[in-house]
Amino acid sequence: MNILVINSGSSSIKFQLLDMVAERVLASGLVERIGEALGRIKCTLRPGTGSERVVVRENRIADHTSGMRLAVEILTDPADGVIAQPSEVTAIGHRVVHGGEDFHQPTVIDDRVLAAIANNVPLAPLHNPANLAGIRVAQELFPQAAQVAVFDTAFHQTIPAHAYHYAIPYRLYEEERIRRYGFHGTSHKYVAGECARAMGRPLAELNIITIHLGNGCSMAAVGGGRSLDCTLGFTPLEGLVMGTRSGDLDPAIHAYLARNCGMDIEAIDTLLNKESGLKGLCGLNDMRDIHAAIAEGDQRARLALEVQTYRNKKYIGAYTAVLGRVDAIVFTAGIGENDAVTRAKSLAGLEPFGIVLDDERNRHPGGGPALLSHGTSRVEVWVIPTNEELAIARETKAVVAG
Ligand code: AMP
Repeated sequence: MNILVINSGSSSIKFQLLDMVAERVLASGLVERIGEALGRIKCTLRPGTGSERVVVRENRIADHTSGMRLAVEILTDPADGVIAQPSEVTAIGHRVVHGGEDFHQPTVIDDRVLAAIANNVPLAPLHNPANLAGIRVAQELFPQAAQVAVFDTAFHQTIPAHAYHYAIPYRLYEEERIRRYGFHGTSHKYVAGECARAMGRPLAELNIITIHLGNGCSMAAVGGGRSLDCTLGFTPLEGLVMGTRSGDLDPAIHAYLARNCGMDIEAIDTLLNKESGLKGLCGLNDMRDIHAAIAEGDQRARLALEVQTYRNKKYIGAYTAVLGRVDAIVFTAGIGENDAVTRAKSLAGLEPFGIVLDDERNRHPGGGPALLSHGTSRVEVWVIPTNEELAIARETKAVVAG
């Protein structure tokens, strides 16, 4: 059973083709700069095997359909491809960012589902239209394949009302659907499941804090396999300090910037989403660059690291209170998986909560899921590599299998 995973953005399409009998990646690729003067597709066929081959083409790629056509050409190339024809793809799993309150789980796409995704465009004006474009292209190029939507928000639909309501007039929830939705749901669900597997215990018995630290950052409180809270809110701007996004701030800052700095709402939105977070504090948004700058004595870079890890710690405390008893803390994504300093700083001083990191394990976790906590730690600390494509492919397979 071959499943194609598609993550369609406004000017890019990320894709991965997996053989889901062996859970093996057959090909993965990225189409970028769609609609620009010069577009690019890079596709790695049979990654990690002796016959790995990387194909790169640069041409103008007018739209998502042309981009996906190029991908199909490479995947089905008679000399080098990994499938003979598109009909060898059984199902397609689409990452869809916003399912609103309509979707609690992955869903086979039909006209009703397409309409619901379109209805959620106001909640994710950049993402949902791009996701819809990806679905339409896939329907055209793979007419025989089952199309499944896997929503970033679905896992968090179990967050209870007291956690998802903002304390603003109730009519704004009723009329504008303003509430906490939470994002990165596929990643949180996947690493919580993999953590339970690594611990050899049923997920239903475990309380886990999952911490996704990449370009985007979020934390979730997962009780018995259900999301009970998430730091990302109405949009993916709330909560932790991210690469270029501010995370939490006093909402009155919006009004201040408008009144005192002459900024309009678009400029404020750009400031908080693209020019804030680590980048706003020190000019750098890649944690590797931040460490290099700290090593050279850059005080702003040090401050950025301190602000981010302090926010992480504060939310670990909050979610410990939410869960009551914490069995495990999981770090994942680019920073979470690779940065021992971030992990150590985020957990420093939490020994009274039963959280004790093993320095040596933290510094050298090796690849794959790894236990980082000391034998005396009541809470197990894990690093679990996230794999959104595999997670989407598994969810898609489960939906198709009924
Ligand atoms: P992601 O969004 O999960 O791909 O994460 C991307 C971010 O992970 C990058 O911007 C880096 O800040 C961070 N990252 C990746 N590799 C490392 C590393 N070896 N050490 C520290 N941070 C890393």
